[in-house]
Amino acid sequence: MRNFRSSQNGNAAGWLLVLIVIAIIAGGYWWVSNKGASSPPDNEAPPAGEEPPIDDNPPTDDIPPIEEDDPAEPPAEPDVLTDADGRVFAYLPVGALLPSSGPGFVDETVYRPEVAFPTEDPVFLNSQVYRYGGGMGSLNGMNGGQCDARNYDYPWQDTFCEHRDRNQPLCPGGGHEGLDIRPHTCVKNTHWAIAVDDGRVIDIRRHWVTMQTPDGTIYNYLHLNMGELSVVEGQEVRKGDRIGKISNDFFKSDGTSVPTTTHLHFEMYENYVAAPGETPLFTKVNPYMTLVAAYDRKLRGE
Ligand SMILES: [Zn+2]
Repeated sequence: MRNFRSSQNGNAAGWLLVLIVIAIIAGGYWWVSNKGASSPPDNEAPPAGEEPPIDDNPPTDDIPPIEEDDPAEPPAEPDVLTDADGRVFAYLPVGALLPSSGPGFVDETVYRPEVAFPTEDPVFLNSQVYRYGGGMGSLNGMNGGQCDARNYDYPWQDTFCEHRDRNQPLCPGGGHEGLDIRPHTCVKNTHWAIAVDDGRVIDIRRHWVTMQTPDGTIYNYLHLNMGELSVVEGQEVRKGDRIGKISNDFFKSDGTSVPTTTHLHFEMYENYVAAPGETPLFTKVNPYMTLVAAYDRKLRGE
């Protein structure tokens, strides 16, 4: 009992000490808190001798002063580009062809960063064979005519190395050696194709118009209205000059007319280098990213 009582007295003294320590800590905390509330940090205090900028803005109660002092960064605007019809431009990645339509060929190269886009009006790059109105459209459940509105919309889709029975160095087993460009309406002989660069028309035959720039790059324009071209063979052209109207002309080698869909088939010959150090191969390359970049500049008015 005695030990117990003595122990009780000792405990009481100990608790008193603890209470005093707590009171001191709490008091210190209250003082620090109040000081913090009444004295803003140095970087918020108005400089001595100058008008406090906060006073110029009446509704300070709800707005933290720190946000008033720092002009907000302009919000990052999404990179939205609209064409002449008010539609928002979008494109699928290079090499991402429609299912079952071919292996494609991924080439991110913008071969000519300064060329004009080869048409005056808005266009949609997509398949003429594996979509509505194409001979293989049913493979993708796209049954309908070529004028189906679903053919006339973004996003663009690559068609380089789409299945074809034509030999092409960059398309294993043969393939589509250019890109198909659908004008923004299904009306043929209305929408102009234009020269992408300064050069010369070096060849016109069947449904081909071929132009070459002074540095050797070759561009082919196919399926124009060949009876009403704006150029003749041998003619010098300037970037932006009209070449002809997009149509559906297609002539077999014996001259037989077998109309295709209304579109511009566009080809570009460049020196293709498979890997650093390898010998360049002058061949038809995938112009997809070159055209994406040119269209982007066109929509920006550059
Ligand atoms: Zn084509």
